[in-house]
Amino acid sequence: MEAAQGKLHRRLHVKPDGRRLWLYGWEPHRGEPLEELPPAPAPAPHCRWHPLRSEWVVYAAHRQERTFKPPAEFCPLCPAAPGASPGEIPFAAFEIAVFENRFPSFSPLAPEPPPLPVETSRAAGACEVIVYSAEHAGSLAALPEERVRLLVEVWADRCREILARPEVAFAMPFENRGEQVGVTLHHPHGQLYAFPFVPPVVKPMVEAFRRESLLERLMDRTGSAYEVDGDANATAFVPPFARFPFELWIATRRRAPGPWAFEAAETASFAAVLRRSLARLDALFARPMPYIALLYAAPKGEEAHFHTHLQILPFLRAAERLKYLAGCEQGAGTFLADMLPETMVERLKAAAP
Ligand SMILES: [Zn+2]
Repeated sequence: MEAAQGKLHRRLHVKPDGRRLWLYGWEPHRGEPLEELPPAPAPAPHCRWHPLRSEWVVYAAHRQERTFKPPAEFCPLCPAAPGASPGEIPFAAFEIAVFENRFPSFSPLAPEPPPLPVETSRAAGACEVIVYSAEHAGSLAALPEERVRLLVEVWADRCREILARPEVAFAMPFENRGEQVGVTLHHPHGQLYAFPFVPPVVKPMVEAFRRESLLERLMDRTGSAYEVDGDANATAFVPPFARFPFELWIATRRRAPGPWAFEAAETASFAAVLRRSLARLDALFARPMPYIALLYAAPKGEEAHFHTHLQILPFLRAAERLKYLAGCEQGAGTFLADMLPETMVERLKAAAP
């Protein structure tokens, strides 16, 4: 299957404070920039080692000193308009825009950490904001299919570029959706974090994929029993060990280390299955499902084993009941689930959008 749209176009714009903005589209981007925001402060994040958890904690204290406080009705992700207050994207139109976060937790410009009585390291890496649409209202599921396919291409391009940087070990596109998970900007967008280390959640994944081609084996063993949607190239399924209510994973049937390794038909299938899966979650309780969606791709050097996939972790277990991560989950890392994955499959299948 050949993608209807041909070539991915990318235009780089450097903001007055040096932050980069990339305009992606199926059409070349044109137009002169309008007014820009005041310059961002110099980023100064650093990492400190947590000896009891064996993991890094990232401090981006400048996030608390935000001088840029837009009025509530002002959206910094909307396109620019002559005479309107400037936002982060100084152009009147765009398909998908990506820019370096104004208050990054990881940055290519991170300074050396301050002298401290504990182990520290540079918070080198990147934090980017990915704006899915110039339209303020809407959601990823409600975007046209060609736009979701463009987004998968954008993830591939951003990961490829960022993983080529010597200081980056792992790159993760993700989306937090809904006020229940702390989202304050409703304009459809996601983010990308690039880490100078392989984070704690990803380390055991790497080890599992080194031992066996885990997702392909799981698909073989379960057949279509846990599948909610899918086609010849991609599948959406409830993992038989789901931790979150209505948890859904999207993967290509063939092992690929990241979206940068997808064939055109796999990109199209992955986008279509993802879009329908998100619409299904919204249909489940006839209200927008709050979720965290995470695209896991191979850390640098793990391309030979890793199987890229997207995990959607929803937070509603009933129309009015949120899943909270409380004592057992936070304190012990052990999830308590009150619904069987087999039931989730049946209910998700019945919730066709
Ligand atoms: Zn907006």
